[in-house]
Amino acid sequence: MERLQKYLAECGIASRRKCEEYILQGRVKVNGKVVKELGVKINPDVDIIEFDDKIVRREKKKVYIMLNKPTGYITSVKDQFGRPTVMDLVKVKERIYPVGRLDYDTSGLLLLTNDGEIANILMHPRHEIVKTYIAKIKGIPTQEELERFRNGLLIGDYLTSKAEIEILAVKNGTSVVEIKIHEGKNRQVRRMCEAIGHPVISLTRTKIGELSLEGLKPGEWRYLTQKEIDYLK
Ligand code: URA
Repeated sequence: MERLQKYLAECGIASRRKCEEYILQGRVKVNGKVVKELGVKINPDVDIIEFDDKIVRREKKKVYIMLNKPTGYITSVKDQFGRPTVMDLVKVKERIYPVGRLDYDTSGLLLLTNDGEIANILMHPRHEIVKTYIAKIKGIPTQEELERFRNGLLIGDYLTSKAEIEILAVKNGTSVVEIKIHEGKNRQVRRMCEAIGHPVISLTRTKIGELSLEGLKPGEWRYLTQKEIDYLK
């Protein structure tokens, strides 16, 4: 027997807390009956659990995969325009999905899993896992521009939190920079570089926390080691 909200979170519905709210809102049914109180225990092997009138199921075997995403692939399970997606690169029998997103024209480290709970944890801003990127940008940023980037700047109406940026190399009027951020707004790195006047030419994510792409060529993937999985949890 296990707690309803824990089960819902493991099925990838939302975080445990959010699932508690859904229960209180009457969006969850057990064996056809709405359950509105917290603390109810269920047996997933015999009970039928529904969320918004759809049956929810938990994948049995959890898999955790690291992909070196090439550019030219969409980070989603399906693309409405029929473009290639990262799912074309990783063929496993479990129903996995990407954790977070890399743009079509961004390459690098992408995690895929069927563990809804870990996906929720990693994408929650509170988790603050640092993501490292290498970007080739136009021009050479001044000290003042680097400081603006580091202190947080406005992209649209969003004020970014503190970030790191270091220049690694300068060549033919372009710079290669290493950037570390712990947020994941849409096109955040590109928009931050744009905001200091140095648009991105190419972008790769090299690390998520301690996890590193090392040894994987673009398009290659591997299962995470147990040590890496424990680190993420
Ligand atoms: N920031 C971006 O701008 N693009 C990505 O794909 C990831 C982070």
